[in-house]
Amino acid sequence: MDIKRLNSLKFSKKTRKNKDIKLIIIHYTGMQSKIASIKRLLSSKYKVSCHYLIDRQGKIFQMVDDTKVAWHAGKSKWKNLKNLNQNSIGIELVNKGHDFGYQKFSNFQITNLIKLCQNLKKKYNVKNSNILGHSDVAPMRKKDPGEKFPWKRLKDKKIGIWYKKTRVKKITEKDRMEKLFFSNLHKIGYRYFNKNKRSKKDIFIIKTFQRRFIPKNVTGMVDQKTFKISQFLTN
Ligand SMILES: [Zn+2]
Repeated sequence: MDIKRLNSLKFSKKTRKNKDIKLIIIHYTGMQSKIASIKRLLSSKYKVSCHYLIDRQGKIFQMVDDTKVAWHAGKSKWKNLKNLNQNSIGIELVNKGHDFGYQKFSNFQITNLIKLCQNLKKKYNVKNSNILGHSDVAPMRKKDPGEKFPWKRLKDKKIGIWYKKTRVKKITEKDRMEKLFFSNLHKIGYRYFNKNKRSKKDIFIIKTFQRRFIPKNVTGMVDQKTFKISQFLTN
C-alpha cells in the first residue's frame, strides 16, 4: 500500500502494545477543504489528531504511528470500553461534513479505506464488531461519518458489520418494541442510554443507529423497520 507520511506531533508519548489496539474508528474531517483539515490536524492550537487521513483521490497519509495514542475519539464508549483513544486507530476521510456541504465519499477514498482497514484488521486482530463510526461511540456529540458512508460496501469486503434478513418475530406493542430495540443496541455495543428507562436524549442514539443501518430513514423514531434491523443484527 502506498502510504505517505505527514507527521503530527500530537500524540501521547507512551507507546502502546499491539494488543491494546482493539478498535478502528472512522471519521470525516468536516471542514471546507483538505488543506484546512490537514492544517488543523497539524496545528498545535488544536488538541486533535488521527493516525490516518485519506483524501478524495484516495491518497493515504499516516500522521501518527499506530503504536502511539492519537486524539480523535474524545469522550466515547463502546461495549465495556471508554475513552477510546487509547484502544483505537483513528482514520479521517476528507469530506466537508454536515455543516459545510456533506459529500458522497469518493470511490477512490472508499477503495483505499477498505484496503487500509483490511491490513489493520489483520495486523491487530480487530473484531468486525469493533470497526465503527465516530458517531457510534459518541452518539450524543457526533454524526460522522454519517448516512452517506457505505457500510454495506465495507461489509462485502469483510470489514465491519451489516445485517442479513432473517425471520424475526413481529412486535407491534410500542413499549415492548422500544425496550427490545434498546436491549439489542446494548448487545451490539452502543452505550449512552438506560436499557430500561426512556429519555428525550434517546433520539440521538436512534439517529446514530439509523445513519449507519437505514441511512434513508434517519427519523429518530423506533419504527418497525428500525426495530427489525436491530433484531437482524442480534439474532
Ligand atoms: Zn470524528
